[in-house]
Amino acid sequence: MLLVIGLDGATLRLADEWMAQGKLPVLDGLRRRGRWGVLRSTVPPATLPSWTTFMTGVNPGRHGIFDFTRRDSGTYRVRFVNSTFRKAPSVWRLLSDAGRRVAVLGMPGTYPPEAVNGCMVSGFDAPVTTRATRSFIYPRELADDVMRLGGFTFADFQEFHVGPGWHRTALSRLLGGVERKRELAQALLGRGSWDCFCLVFGETDTVSHHFWHFYDRRSPRHDASAAVQFRDAIELVYRAADAAIGELLTQLPRDCDVLIASDHGFGGAGDRALHLNRFLANHGWLRFGNLGRGRWAGVAKEAALRVVPVRWQAAAFRAFHGRLAGGMESRARFAGIDWRHTRAFSEELNYFPSISINCAGREPEGQVAAAEYDSLCDEIRAALLEWRDPESGAPVVDKVWHRREVYDGPWVEHAPDLILELAEDRGFSYCTLPSRGETAELRTLTRRELAGGKKFSMSGSHRSDGMFIVASTRVTTGRCEAEMNDMAPTILNLCGLPAATGMEGRSLLAASTTAELQGSAGENGEERFYSADDEAVLEERLRALGYLG
Ligand SMILES: [Zn+2]
Repeated sequence: MLLVIGLDGATLRLADEWMAQGKLPVLDGLRRRGRWGVLRSTVPPATLPSWTTFMTGVNPGRHGIFDFTRRDSGTYRVRFVNSTFRKAPSVWRLLSDAGRRVAVLGMPGTYPPEAVNGCMVSGFDAPVTTRATRSFIYPRELADDVMRLGGFTFADFQEFHVGPGWHRTALSRLLGGVERKRELAQALLGRGSWDCFCLVFGETDTVSHHFWHFYDRRSPRHDASAAVQFRDAIELVYRAADAAIGELLTQLPRDCDVLIASDHGFGGAGDRALHLNRFLANHGWLRFGNLGRGRWAGVAKEAALRVVPVRWQAAAFRAFHGRLAGGMESRARFAGIDWRHTRAFSEELNYFPSISINCAGREPEGQVAAAEYDSLCDEIRAALLEWRDPESGAPVVDKVWHRREVYDGPWVEHAPDLILELAEDRGFSYCTLPSRGETAELRTLTRRELAGGKKFSMSGSHRSDGMFIVASTRVTTGRCEAEMNDMAPTILNLCGLPAATGMEGRSLLAASTTAELQGSAGENGEERFYSADDEAVLEERLRALGYLG
């Protein structure tokens, strides 16, 4: 049997030190009997594309999931994606088709859950908040049991706001979440024989986002007095996960194969913010509407109402009595852009800095002719690479990729045209924030911003270097580096199946095998769009977790 543990956002920068100090004895023991090291995430190192590559073995250009949202082709609107948008079969599907029994608990990108040979409980991106909803559990018969065992925690923080006492409450919830997942996993483990049992802890990611500045004394957000209380918060959650894995292992045979993986690594977020649309405007590639200060809010709101689906607005107003409407206003990704004078624009997503070209014939008010496309991309790329932070004199952007350079496959067109890898400001990441009303393209966050809203207050951010451990007698021991797309073929091989030939990664097993896919493994039917209520719930959760502005 294979036990797969996802530690969302777990980074070797932290775990390596704590393993060496004996603080993570279970993980340390596992790495001693296997292969381990840095696991390279996708570009960008974001949760949904990365876990989807983890479970399909292919890059986002082949599985089609680049982010939580996708811009509808031919429009400036975005909508939330779900597992029906995935274009490549998951390992869970392949294992099931081969008659293996699988359990998958908490993996992002698996809602709605697949009808696997076993059970599946979707991850935190399931649009579920109430105990009455059971759509995130397959089979439905399992739902009562899952609920009886305390349900499944999605790190829902919207019930409380960052303020006095927030971190204390958050930390105890995160530790409680690890416990509850462990209890549920133990109960399911004891019920029947599994060939592959997978459990994902999102808590390692959430604690790193919110507690990094307590841990890291060099952080420009470091707060020495509060740090006394919370310096060990991230370590506590890692240790709780380590202990939970240890508990699960006591139920399994001694030589059970184990795969530990994170979807990306972690580092600190600095106090400098950049506004990509302002940068584009300063270079003449984008024009904002001619707005007086007072009118700004109204126009932004109007734009928000224009870029989100009508049915979603209705649900939002109905469900949240206008509370969400304020959120939508700030969420308007393209608020105030004068499309007829705009050649390039950005969604300004903090975790996925990118630029799209306003192409004639593709965007509704496209301005850039096909013949100009390549030279415009080159010009923008050159300007981004020349961009210097006046405070440090250092480059702001490390790399600019055209989507064809990072992705390969039939779904590349769903990606923005240019993908940015930002430089770090003295070791800390820049924040990408909406330009609305901003006049500076680069600025320092105010004290209020750093302390207030969740997005600004997140002191930890994703890095491309995650971690993995494969403990098995079938791997050579020692440190090495692996790619995210290596995990799916490795899982198949560990379960005694050949890797599928369509997978781009390579198995980490010494004697790896590959074979042509048989039968219905594709099984990708129609994309099913979320209902209005589901979108509203999901938006609320993603905002609470800091994904949406
Ligand atoms: Zn994260």
